[in-house]
Amino acid sequence: MSDSLSRREFLGAATGVAAGATLGAPFTEGTGFPAVHIRPAAGPVAVASANGLRGVELAGRLLIEGMDTLDAAIEGVKTQELDAEDTSVGYGGLPNEEGVVQLDASCMHGPTRRAGSVGALEGIKTPSVVAKYVLLYTDHIMLVGEGAKRFALSYGFKEEDLLTDKAREIWLRWRANRGPNDDWINVPDDEMMVRRETGTINLNVVNASGDISSVTTTSGLSWKIPGRVGDSPIIGAGQYTDNDIGAAGSTGRGEANIKVCGAFLTVDNMRRGMSPTDAALETLRRVVTTTEPRLLDERGRPRFGLNFYAVNKNGEFGAGSLWSGRRYATFDGETASLRDIPYLYERD
Ligand code: ASP
Repeated sequence: MSDSLSRREFLGAATGVAAGATLGAPFTEGTGFPAVHIRPAAGPVAVASANGLRGVELAGRLLIEGMDTLDAAIEGVKTQELDAEDTSVGYGGLPNEEGVVQLDASCMHGPTRRAGSVGALEGIKTPSVVAKYVLLYTDHIMLVGEGAKRFALSYGFKEEDLLTDKAREIWLRWRANRGPNDDWINVPDDEMMVRRETGTINLNVVNASGDISSVTTTSGLSWKIPGRVGDSPIIGAGQYTDNDIGAAGSTGRGEANIKVCGAFLTVDNMRRGMSPTDAALETLRRVVTTTEPRLLDERGRPRFGLNFYAVNKNGEFGAGSLWSGRRYATFDGETASLRDIPYLYERD
């Protein structure tokens, strides 16, 4: 069975849908950031979290060669999933509090208006591909845990130990030092041990004909309670595509994103005429208003990080972050680069 959307009946699906909205109205005044990034030529565009620099470059090249938008996006994030050195995604990701790596991923294919997702998947290096198989071969949208693994195994995915020596070492150090009153003897401290690692890759693409897809994949919050599922596999939170409008996705504190359905809201903001960057920043303002007091600092600012990345059907792209100092990866039709993300709050 072919796993490529471009080789299946999806090829003929609704492409070239009318834009249906006035896109790209800028109002990012006074931030020092350009309101709208526009591709230099009518080539494909890809945007991702900063760890997706290689991913956007690969996806962009594959789109230029004519690959389907979702296939290209997934090829892009697979580079991170298979990279044992990246401790936030796929193989090599940091585990839950019991030392088990549990992965989340979701994707949407604009032309066919389909979605697929997996949550708390164990033992499979590429959850983004499993999410695409859910999209391709089932009448469901989300599979989780043991069922998701059995589904993947039925298609020939190999079950492997995803906990690398590097990730195990970090986890063991965290467990040893997690509290003063536990039975684990503390080990010498370093930053890696105490810092709570997060990370995810979200990648959104639009091709030269205006077809759009998105994918997000992650090992989630390190040391999470077993079974915790974040925003990444939630359609409308971790990522969302509307082939008439655009796509958006997120990295950062999933619990904050889920409450506002942030990827959906960002696409909906674009539907109402906002540029991708303004749409992302507007979503973040909503996040602030829905944040519980215990998670706000004395000035009412969230004590966590959250970022959105977005493209629209015209190939305009942008991003927004709660905090300054973040960058995102872009392929603008010609070159891949990292750009500063417009933000709501300057870090002290
Ligand atoms: N959004 C991810 C989650 O909450 C984590 C991250 O992006 O850092 O699972």
